[in-house]
Amino acid sequence: MSRLANECDAINLGQGFPNFDAPAFLRDRVAHALCGPTGQYSRSAGLPALCQAISSSSAHRLGYEADWQREIVVTAGATEGIAAAILGLVNPGDEVILIDPGYDSYAACVALAGAIAVRVPLDLNDFSLPRERLAQAFSSRTRMVIVNSPHNPSGRVFTVDELSHIAKLACAHSALVLSDEVYEHLVFDGDAVSISTLPGMRERTIVLSSLGKTFSCTGWKVGWAIAPEPLAQGVLAAHQFLTFCAPSPLQGAAVEAIRALAPGTEYLRGFLSDYRARLDALAAPLEAASIEVRRPEGTYFMLMRTNTLAPGMNELQAAEHLARTAGVATIPLSPFCAPGAPEGGWLRLAYCKEIPTLQVAAARLTQAAKRLCNS
Ligand code: PMP
Repeated sequence: MSRLANECDAINLGQGFPNFDAPAFLRDRVAHALCGPTGQYSRSAGLPALCQAISSSSAHRLGYEADWQREIVVTAGATEGIAAAILGLVNPGDEVILIDPGYDSYAACVALAGAIAVRVPLDLNDFSLPRERLAQAFSSRTRMVIVNSPHNPSGRVFTVDELSHIAKLACAHSALVLSDEVYEHLVFDGDAVSISTLPGMRERTIVLSSLGKTFSCTGWKVGWAIAPEPLAQGVLAAHQFLTFCAPSPLQGAAVEAIRALAPGTEYLRGFLSDYRARLDALAAPLEAASIEVRRPEGTYFMLMRTNTLAPGMNELQAAEHLARTAGVATIPLSPFCAPGAPEGGWLRLAYCKEIPTLQVAAARLTQAAKRLCNS
């Protein structure tokens, strides 16, 4: 879709990256770090100062201070964290439960590990968890279930009740949980509970996070995994042979950023209010034009139904049609699901963009709806 966006000169609300830069204080830290002696490999599990900062800044959310020497692995973005956790902890032939739609690297890494993906679709109207179907997906071969809340692409923050359902099943089947929490700080109402905090879960959960979403630096690729020592050792074993270490100067700069993550800091308050304004700039005009959207509880993605803008088309056709005729590129939800699975008729729009960009995109989409109405 990014290629098509370039071809059609469309506004790219497809790929999820901000069109604004990381905060100046953070870029200054990189410049500073590059002037120091940081050009060599760092400790494979992560720079000690960064691991210590991650441990203390996550203690509030996770309810305990992870042992920075044994329970934290800094990775090249959460993408490497996903790969390292799956390759390090899942054996060929094991089953891994994926909740669809889901971030596409999960299924790819499960395949790389020679494991079997067991896919459980969310309800495609409200993206709630199908409890019975999930229970049926567990078997004696289930090694891991992957949970992502706040959820890409739906924008849902799963309720404690839903997470407890997953947790109970994981405990009953002695399964591990890979909890992808990269959007943990981008939640509009209250907090996103980490499944690792529920009863019996700490010892079986690997929590993943990333600097990229919270500090608008998706290209830096600094992420981390937090897990009890036996699981962290599995992640570290794979990480050692995937990248060995994340870039040393960026890890150094990240220390300062992570310290800005205490609850209610000025940085996080500003971050959330900026995202609220961006969401409004895109969603409000579409809602006013009776285009069905789903405002997210968290993440920088919102959903839009294809029916008013591209009736009779499947999601991929609708996305291509809108890129070409309305000049707005989006992402269909179908690639986030098992091939050939039923569709809900949704497109994902990334609103991590400057407000004027979002205003122009909203105007283009509402114009397209008007043209269709008049034709
Ligand atoms: N998990 C989810 C749910 C994501 O949306 C993304 C980025 N799109 C990642 C992981 C990857 O994070 P990173 O950029 O830190 O590798």
